[in-house]
Amino acid sequence: MTSEKRLVSVVKCQDPGQGAINAVSLLEEKGAFQPSPGIVFIKPNIVVSIPYDQAPAELTDPGLVAAMIRYFYEHGAEKVVVGERPAWGGSCGDAYRVSGFEEAVTENGGVMCDLDGEPEVWLPVDGHVLKEIRLPRALVEADLLVNIPKAKTHFLTAVTVGIKNLFGCIRYEDRKKYHREIDLASVLADLLKALPPGLTVVDAVQVMEGFGPHAGTGVEMGLVMAGTDAVAVDTVGTYLMGVDPKSLALLQVAEKLGLGNIDLAEIDIAGEALDEVRMSLLPPIFKFVSQYENVRVYAGGVCPGCRPRIPTVPLVCDPTKKYAVIIGREPIAIRPDVEADEVWLLGNCGVRAGMDYVLRRAFHGGFKKGVPKVVKVPGCPPLDWYSQRVIFPPLREKGWMR
Ligand code: SF4
Repeated sequence: MTSEKRLVSVVKCQDPGQGAINAVSLLEEKGAFQPSPGIVFIKPNIVVSIPYDQAPAELTDPGLVAAMIRYFYEHGAEKVVVGERPAWGGSCGDAYRVSGFEEAVTENGGVMCDLDGEPEVWLPVDGHVLKEIRLPRALVEADLLVNIPKAKTHFLTAVTVGIKNLFGCIRYEDRKKYHREIDLASVLADLLKALPPGLTVVDAVQVMEGFGPHAGTGVEMGLVMAGTDAVAVDTVGTYLMGVDPKSLALLQVAEKLGLGNIDLAEIDIAGEALDEVRMSLLPPIFKFVSQYENVRVYAGGVCPGCRPRIPTVPLVCDPTKKYAVIIGREPIAIRPDVEADEVWLLGNCGVRAGMDYVLRRAFHGGFKKGVPKVVKVPGCPPLDWYSQRVIFPPLREKGWMR
């Protein structure tokens, strides 16, 4: 690996599009990147059907992507394609239209690609956990893959810089089974090995801190970073967000797979001095105790994939009732005298453990007020329930989803 390959540019900016051009031009000047003719595939982070100005800390800025489309055409690209698979299995068409990406991309001569409608190919990968991975052909066959993520805090990975954004290349059905913790880090490293982007440009202008990647708070960081070595970009971005890169499972696995070096001293920086622009973002601290007085949570062995769903149950809280939420592989903390009008069982293992508990109590006549109503929320983690009952209804009400 040459020293040029491990160059990361970091630029301050007011205008994200200009920031991206400046960051990539710095790489070009140092001989670390040369745009090639042919088909360029840009993978932004579109997330969900929400207008960009309602979620500027969550979605990649469409204006930044528009500037990069113009840049690639000016440098001889034959075609610039943009595509993403939104979170929770949402429709590409809705997300592209409502976010503003469709307009920004097509106005600049780019082509939106519905990744869910693309034929897929199985790519072999000698990965940490995977032997092969299923990906849309348009992504695999592009001459240059450009990853344009949004920098955010993330409750599963502490922060997400560039590599995590590649997760949206995988179909939702495959994604949701890896959406836990170390599982996610391992699969992401394998994905990076199978489909390394030729360039990463990080939108860190408006970023998210706190309980990201969806429920945090926006904060101005005012930076764009770029590099051709995805591990180096993530190492630098993680450091700039106030987190030690060596503490992240994803970067540890990536280094172990030989995908890059996560030692900052081994990375050349062009542009801003890192310690001059470094921030200390609020971490994604999880709130375990329910916001409601009358809801008690009985947990044990809960994965991070299930944890963030706890504050969302019950969906409607009746202050005259008592609720119990049972979650985790072994919810050892259930008191034998728990009385509730409704028992919510979260996640496949919460359903298993909770039903066992409820049936045993019921069988032994242990409920003074009769057997409570039981609400099962299956899934491992229960992402389908979460999207259909929590995320999508308000978007449909606003007309942002069909
Ligand atoms: S259902 Fe159980 S095993 Fe699956 S993510 Fe939730 S806590 Fe983990």
